[in-house]
Formats: sequence, structure tokens, C-alpha cells
Amino acid sequence: MMDRYDVIVVGAGAAGLIAAGRAAELGGKVLLLEKMERAGRKLLITGKGRCNITNDAPHSEFLKHIHPDSSFLQHAFAGFFSHDIIRLLADNGCATVVERGARVFPASNKAADVVHALMRWVGKNQVDVRYRHKVEGLHVSDGQVSGLKVHTPVGSRTVHARSIILCTGGKSYPATGSDGDGYRFAAAAGHLIETPRQALVPLETAGNMASRLRGLSLRNVKAVVWVNGKPTREEFGELLFTEFGLSGPIILTLSRFVVDELRNHNQVELALDLKPALSETKLDNRLLRDLKEHATLRMESIFRKWLPAELVPVFGETTGVAAGTQGQRLSPAERRRILLLMKDLRFTITGCRPFKEAIVTAGGVVTTQIDAHTMESKLIRNLHFAGELIDLDADTGGYNLQLAFSTGWLAAEACMRQCERE
Ligand SMILES: Cc1cc2nc3c(=O)[nH]c(=O)nc-3n(C[C@H](O)[C@H](O)[C@H](O)COP(=O)(O)OP(=O)(O)OC[C@H]3O[C@@H](n4cnc5c(N)ncnc54)[C@H](O)[C@@H]3O)c2cc1C
Repeated sequence: MMDRYDVIVVGAGAAGLIAAGRAAELGGKVLLLEKMERAGRKLLITGKGRCNITNDAPHSEFLKHIHPDSSFLQHAFAGFFSHDIIRLLADNGCATVVERGARVFPASNKAADVVHALMRWVGKNQVDVRYRHKVEGLHVSDGQVSGLKVHTPVGSRTVHARSIILCTGGKSYPATGSDGDGYRFAAAAGHLIETPRQALVPLETAGNMASRLRGLSLRNVKAVVWVNGKPTREEFGELLFTEFGLSGPIILTLSRFVVDELRNHNQVELALDLKPALSETKLDNRLLRDLKEHATLRMESIFRKWLPAELVPVFGETTGVAAGTQGQRLSPAERRRILLLMKDLRFTITGCRPFKEAIVTAGGVVTTQIDAHTMESKLIRNLHFAGELIDLDADTGGYNLQLAFSTGWLAAEACMRQCERE
């Protein structure tokens, strides 16, 4: 390791690999520091090991999936977008395919191939990559960063650079190495940090109903979030019951907003519509028809025609309909209770799962203190940010990784422009 570089990139995740590779491609002497024993630990577990690399949606659609201020990314996306990462990966041996919802995956279905391709590119561009090198703090003086302190396997030392790009990620899944160090460095440099909080995270519910149903996955249901007695948001799709509450795609998508409502001490409930394709009238007609057709069957058998087997005891208990009641003996009031439960199976949300189970971290370095054209700090010269460390997060679908790639690329280009000027 030399004493002085053009650019030091901290963190060999999605943003850091792109930032380091691009700065070196533009001719910079680049050092990439990673505290873990290898690069891209989090990348390897993305998309359940398949890595949903990006999303093929047009720009305007893409922006709708980014929170809280997608306009901050206009320049980053203009410089490096989904087709660019697809091309870069293809050039380095990782072909991709587009799946349902415009989600882009490696054709091999292996996240490891994405990491290999990025590492091949980083290697080709002669980035000096160091593992088990944990950055401990930045050297800042006179409003400018000049280097950092790094703990190496043989002791601590200081390394200098013209520019530093912090790509340390958020604080979710800390076992991958992203455990919030970057927030400390940015705060020590004077940056405001929007409180980090879990996003894309399973939710916890009151009572034991979810736990009784754990393992059950429901497709084509509608989940409506009620805040202080008012419906506020809804999602349609698949959900999963767990030991602690609710998970699955639609719950993860809603979780970002639910977590904020809970933080504001609002009362949050989640209502499941198990038959979203049928209006109450149509559903009632269907129930009546089935009850007539199976007049002598016991209700426990009729319930099975309407619901997954796991839900039958829950419906029996909650509606007070005895399992042995014959279809023809069901009263209109009992039928009404069944119908209402099918359209509104309600859970009180008590919290969310911890950071170690959150797919991304919302919050981070506030965007108002970062120049959107360069990713440079507006407070400290030559200090840049990229990736999840910034107060930006996105829905599932490949948007989070693209955000990291695009900000990493933009930061690297800005650093190298600065180097040329000096
Ligand atoms: C289970 C799971 C599945 C996901 N699936 C997808 C998906 O399919 N598609 C998608 O778009 N997004 C997905 N995400 C989100 C996505 O992985 C992240 O948003 C993205 O990796 C963020 O990139 P990053 O470079 O900012 O941070 P990271 O990828 O987290 O990288 C940060 C790196 O910095 C290193 N580091 C931290 N502190 C220091 C330090 N002090 N010194 C040196 N190194 C340090 C860390 O070890 C780490 O390697 C998933 C996340 C999880 C947890």
C-alpha cells in the first residue's frame, strides 16, 4: 500500500466496486479498502442469492420507486443507468436476463457471477484492493479531507488521497460488514444524519394469529394499512405469515411507511382482503351459492372450498361458527361475519423486525448537504458519498442496487475531474 492515492474508496460493496473501477478506468491511482475478508458480501445474498441487479423500467417509472427524494438522482441516473450496468457486466462475463416486473438478473441465476464480473473489471483497471482493512476515521482539516486512518492486519496507519468516496452502506444485515460506520464518519465531519431505520422489513403483529399461521403464503391478496382508523396505503400481491407477524413482498413494500407511522406513535393496523377480486355483493352470492350446493356438508368442509386449510380453524374461532354446523343451518348473521372476515382480516402492527432482518436502511447522510452533480459533500471538500449510506432507499425490484451503482459512478467521475484540474 502506497502512502498517497488519487482516490480512496471505502467499502467494496455495490457502490464501492463501481466507484473504484470507474476512477481507475479514468486513470486514477485508486485504493479500495474493505473491512471484510472479501468483496461484495451483501451483493452475494441479494435477490435470495440470484441478485436482482437493476430494473429495466423507463427513467420516469424508476424514479417512483425511490424515497424520499428521487430527484436527487437525476444526474447520477443520467450518467450511468440500468443499460450501463447491464453492458458493463456483459463485457466482463456476466450476461443478464429481464424477468417479470422488468427485474434484471444474471442469466446464470448466481449473485456470485455479478461479484466476479465486477471484480474482473476492478482488476483490469488495476485498483489496489485491500481486505481486512477497516477504516476508523477521516482526517479533516480546514474544511477538506486529506486521508484516513485504517486498521490493517499489521496495525493502524494513515493513508492520504486527493479524494475519498465513502461507500460503507447502511446498517442492515450487519454480518455482511455494513454496520453503520459511515454514519459515524459523516457525522464527525459535521454532516446531518437522518435517523437510520429499517425499510423492506418484516412486521410484528399483536396476538398469536400470525404465529399460528406461520409458513402460510397467500397470493393475490390485498393488504391495506390503516393509520389511526383511516386507510392510507394498499398493495396487492403475495404475503407470508411468520413466527412474529407478516412478511413477503407486499409487506416489505409497505413496511417503509409503517415503520415511520409507528415512530410517530400512530396506531397502525393491517387489513387483509383475501378475496380482492370480488365485491362484497359478489362474494356473498358466491357464499350463498356454495352453501346451497353443499347444504348438508359440515362448515369445516365448506370453509376449505373458500380458504387455505390453515385458515379454517382461525375462521371457525373468530366467527364463532362451529365446525360441525351444516351449510343449510348457517344463519345470515354467521354468513355475514365470514364475509367480513374474508374482506378484512385485521392485524394490529406492534413493530418491525431488527436491522439484521431489514433488507435496506432508510435514513442516512441528508441529501441537502451533498452536491447532486458530483456526490461531493457541501461541507467538506474532496469527500464524496455513494450508495445506501445516503438518505435514499428504494422498493424491491433492483432499484437499490442501481442507486448504489449510479452514485458510485458519478462520485468517481467527479473525483477524477477534480484530479485533472489540480
Ligand atoms: C438480503 C438482502 C437482499 C437484497 N436484495 C437486493 C436485490 O436483489 N436487489 C437490490 O437492488 N437490492 C437488494 N438489496 C439491497 C442492496 O444489497 C443494498 O442496497 C446495496 O448492497 C447497497 O450497496 P452499498 O455499496 O451502498 O453498500 P454495501 O453493499 O452494504 O457495501 C458496503 C461495504 O462497506 C464495507 N464497510 C463498511 N464499513 C467499513 C469500514 N469502516 N471500513 C472498510 N469497509 C467498510 C462493508 O463491509 C461492505 O462491504 C438486498 C439487501 C439484502 C440485505
